[in-house]
Amino acid sequence: MLTIGVSLMKKTIIVEKLVYCCDVASCDAEDIYPITCINCGVVHCHDCRKTQGVSYGRSVYINSSEDGYYCNACDLKLASQGDNELHNAYRRIASLKEEMKKWSDAFKRSADEAEAEVVSSFLVASFSEKRNLIISNRRSVANNQNDTQRQSGDTR
Ligand SMILES: [Zn+2]
Ligand SMILES: [Zn+2]
Repeated sequence: MLTIGVSLMKKTIIVEKLVYCCDVASCDAEDIYPITCINCGVVHCHDCRKTQGVSYGRSVYINSSEDGYYCNACDLKLASQGDNELHNAYRRIASLKEEMKKWSDAFKRSADEAEAEVVSSFLVASFSEKRNLIISNRRSVANNQNDTQRQSGDTR
């Protein structure tokens, strides 16, 4: 029997990790994926971005909030000046998204109401009412067919 001696080599590897420090004065977070204001370059960590800035998307239909991030101060300043083309475009998209959401919510409310009305009318109608409705519908279909046959007979 052959025994092979294995000597395990050990290595110490120093891994460097790049972290960014959040620029909010009251925050000492370090973040690997921070977000930067595209106007002034201030860096915000994952938590601070929720309250310290505004994210804009480049598409009305797709939610891509990472595109245009502005710190609150820059967002307010650029909005009041109104002369930054990129910021204006982002704000226009945000306003269209808001308009679409309002329209979509109103449409959904109307659709839900109409559907609920069908259901409640159907449930309220008594069994005999429903039967009479079906019978009268059948009669009118049959009458229409007779009329059509008579008319086509007349033209011959
Ligand atoms: Zn800024
Ligand atoms: Zn922070």
